[in-house]
Amino acid sequence: MLYIVFVIGVIFGSFYNVVGLRLPKGESIVTPGSHCPKCGHMLRWYENIPLLSYIFLGGACKSCKEPISAMYFIMELLSGTLFALCYKVFGISIDFFYSLIISSLVIIIFVSDSKYMIINDSPLVISMILIFFIKLFTLGLKSSLLSLLSGLVIFILVYLLRVIGFILFKQEALGGGDIKLSFIAGMILGIKFGIVYIILASFLAFPYALYITIKNKENMLPFGPFLVSSLLIVFLNIPILNLLINSLIHI
Ligand SMILES: [Zn+2]
Repeated sequence: MLYIVFVIGVIFGSFYNVVGLRLPKGESIVTPGSHCPKCGHMLRWYENIPLLSYIFLGGACKSCKEPISAMYFIMELLSGTLFALCYKVFGISIDFFYSLIISSLVIIIFVSDSKYMIINDSPLVISMILIFFIKLFTLGLKSSLLSLLSGLVIFILVYLLRVIGFILFKQEALGGGDIKLSFIAGMILGIKFGIVYIILASFLAFPYALYITIKNKENMLPFGPFLVSSLLIVFLNIPILNLLINSLIHI
C-alpha cells in the first residue's frame, strides 16, 4: 500500500510540475502536451513516464540532447515521498486527505514561487473549497464555518506582519499569495497551531533571509516555500506540538 501511495504521489507530482510551471505564465495545463522547450519535440508516452523516463533518457531531450531540468525529477520524487510519509503518519483517514492537500500545495508552490515568485490563486481556491467541504461532511456546518473563521484570523495576522515588514524594511516582504496560503493554514490548523505555523515559517526563512541580506543579492525573497513547508511540518506533528505547548503552559 505504501508503494502504491508513493507511485500515486509521483504521478500527481508530475502533474503539479506542469501546474507550477504553466499557470504563472497563463498557459493551459492541458495543451500542448509535454514537449522539449528547445526543439519542440513532442514527448512520446514512454518519454513521459514520471521518474523513470528522466533516468532512461539520461536527463536530456531524445531529439536535441538539450538537458532536462533536474527539478522535474526532484519534485516528482519529493511528491511521492511526501504522499508516502503522510500515509505512514495518518493511514487512511480524514487527516490523510488534509495532508495530501498540503503536500500538493508544497510541490506547486515550490515550483511556481521559486521560479516566478508567484503563488497562483486557483490551487489555493481549490484547496479552500476541498477543506471546507471535507469539514462540512465529516464534522458538520459549525466546524466548517469555524475553520473559515480560523483561516480569517491567521490571514489577518500574516497581513499585519506584511504591513509591519513593509514599515521596517521598506519593501514587500510577503506577497498576496503568501497571505491567502495562510488562510488555508488557519483553516486546517486552527488558531493555536496557526500561530505555531507563522513562528516556524519565520525560523525556517531566517537563515535564507540573512544570507540574502549579507550577500546583498536582489532583496525579493520567495516566502511561499517556507510557509507551506511550515504548514506541512506543523500538521504532521500536531500531537507532539500539543504535548509541548501543554507542558510549557504548566511550567
Ligand atoms: Zn529537444
